[in-house]
Amino acid sequence: MEIPADCVVTGGAGFLGSWLCERLLAEGARVVCVDSLVTGSTANIAHLRETAGFRFVDADVTVGIPVEGRVDAVFHLASPASPVHYQRMPLETLRAGSHGTGHALDLAARHGARFLLASSSEVYGDPEEHPQRETYRGRVDPTGPRSMYDEAKRFAEALTVAHHVEHGTRTAIARIFNTYGPRMDPEDGRLVPTLMVQALTGQPLTVAGDGNQTRSLCWVGDLVDGLLRLACSDEPGPVNLGSDDERSVSEVAEVIRQVTGSTSPVQHVPRAPQDPLVRKPDLTRARTRLGWSPTTPLRMGLSRTAAWFADQLATDPPHASV
Ligand code: NAD
Repeated sequence: MEIPADCVVTGGAGFLGSWLCERLLAEGARVVCVDSLVTGSTANIAHLRETAGFRFVDADVTVGIPVEGRVDAVFHLASPASPVHYQRMPLETLRAGSHGTGHALDLAARHGARFLLASSSEVYGDPEEHPQRETYRGRVDPTGPRSMYDEAKRFAEALTVAHHVEHGTRTAIARIFNTYGPRMDPEDGRLVPTLMVQALTGQPLTVAGDGNQTRSLCWVGDLVDGLLRLACSDEPGPVNLGSDDERSVSEVAEVIRQVTGSTSPVQHVPRAPQDPLVRKPDLTRARTRLGWSPTTPLRMGLSRTAAWFADQLATDPPHASV
């Protein structure tokens, strides 16, 4: 794999972005991390600030991406990503997918750089096809409670394809499925951080509905490897990246109880409106075109994540609302 020498990572101070910056630096690349810190944090990149070749630019990608110098690859991750965040910032989320993606594409086109869009399994909505292949067109409610995110990603994909067609921009679309690991925001309402914090602080583990709805959770290190393989290929995508180890939400809660050594009971709470019932990628394309599939077992990844959350909670106890 030939890693691009000069990379721009938008959303680089977020969960996935900080892991991507770290991996690119470890591979010898120079990295400009562009982030407005709207949901990310400087704590996520504090360990990179002294690394040679790393630069942080505080900017809102919906306004512009003020990066000078050579650019070989643009990884566009900047967007609110959890329901708690995107439902609080619906217009900001739509602007990140539209104006933000436009600015990132223009930057890549100006430099003849490779462009990678961090799209989402949410483009499939609440799916009727299972597992989801890239050819599935999805079932998204354009005015529903998740529409600001789902439609922003769908528009971002359309814009990416249009840029390739009109300008020949070297684009790639990654459809990322639920990914977990250290540096997830403990208060962003996503499944793993919510259950981790509850388990580690002796609160009941809240499981939505009957807990039979499924998720397929991917270890962040595996996911970042998939993003790099896609960026280093000529594959335009879309390519599903995630884990196909499908588990019920109840099962995930049980594994988290075990790896944290928690005795907290499970408490069933109402499901969020239009929360997808099933989620599992068909990974044939990733396997055949990129030679990629995730390798980290769920229990191992969740153990590592639990250790990180335990550490965080020891230094920064949670707010009462989590
Ligand atoms: P995150 O919230 O931790 O990171 C997103 C980052 O983007 C944050 O640092 C935030 O400050 C930044 N950002 C948001 N809007 C911005 C703007 N207008 N200008 C500059 N920076 C901005 O979320 P994440 O989980 O790391 O997700 C990263 C990307 O991957 C997102 O595009 C998300 O939609 C996509 N994705 C993530 C997952 C997952 O499971 N984590 C799944 C599917 C897709």
